[in-house]
Amino acid sequence: MTDNTILHGIILSSMPIGEYDRRLSVLTKERGRISAFARGAQRPKSALVAATQPFVTGAFSVIEGRTSYTIVRAEVNEYFTELRGDLAKTCYGCYFCELAEYSTEENLDESEALSLLYASLRALVKGDMPLPLVRAVFEMKMTYVRGEGPQVNECVRCREKSGPFVFHVPSGGCLCRSCAGELFDPEGRKAYELRTQMVARGFYNLDASTWYALRFIAATAPGKMFAFTVSDEVLAELREVAAAWYEEYNDHRFRSAEMLAEVENE
Ligand SMILES: [Zn+2]
Repeated sequence: MTDNTILHGIILSSMPIGEYDRRLSVLTKERGRISAFARGAQRPKSALVAATQPFVTGAFSVIEGRTSYTIVRAEVNEYFTELRGDLAKTCYGCYFCELAEYSTEENLDESEALSLLYASLRALVKGDMPLPLVRAVFEMKMTYVRGEGPQVNECVRCREKSGPFVFHVPSGGCLCRSCAGELFDPEGRKAYELRTQMVARGFYNLDASTWYALRFIAATAPGKMFAFTVSDEVLAELREVAAAWYEEYNDHRFRSAEMLAEVENE
C-alpha cells in the first residue's frame, strides 16, 4: 500500500455507486481533473457524507490506485452551503462545474481553471454581480484558460491594433475594417447576403464597453475578475458572444445548461 497523497481541489460531481459508495470527479491543483472513489460516503455516519458533495473545496487525502484514486479523508475549506440553499445559484454552480469538467484533463496543470471555478463560485455566493454576468465572465475566461480564447486586441488577419473592429466568431476574434470589407457593418452584410444568397454569419458590432469587458476578462487573473458590473446592453452582448463562441467551438450539450436556461428565463 502506498502512502496517502494530499490533493487540493473542488468536487465537480458526485455520483452514488451502489448502496454505500460514491464516485467523484475532482478538479485538483496537483493532478488536474481526476476520478475518485469515496468508499462508504453514502453511509449516514461516514465523515465523508458532507465532504463528498459538489462544490466542496478542500484538501483530499487519497490513495492512488493504478487507474483511479480513493479518497480516505477530507479537510474541507468550504462547503458552499449558501449555493445549495438557492435553486438559481445551485443551477449556475452545477453548470460551472460541468463546464469545468468538460474543459479540463487529468495530469495537466489545471490550476488556472481551478482558481477560475473557485472565484466564480465565490461570486455566486457573494451576489454582487448579476448571475448571468458571472456566467458570461466564467465562460469567456475558461476559453482563455484553455488557450482557445478569442483575439480581442488586434485584427486576427493583419494584426492591426488600433481598430475599430467587428467581432467575428468564425474568424476567432476581431477583424479590422479593411479585412472585414463590406461585412464590417450590418448594412454591408445585408447587401452581401442579398447579392450572394449566403449568410454573413457570426458578426457582432459591439459596444465600446463590451470590448473593454472582453479585454478585461482576457487579461485579468481569475481571482480579480469578479468585481465589476455592466449595463444591461453590454451584458446582453457579452452573453450573446459567449453563447455564439461555445456553439462554434464546442460541439457539446451541457445537461446543466438546459436546467439553467429555465432558471434564467423565469
Ligand atoms: Zn485586419
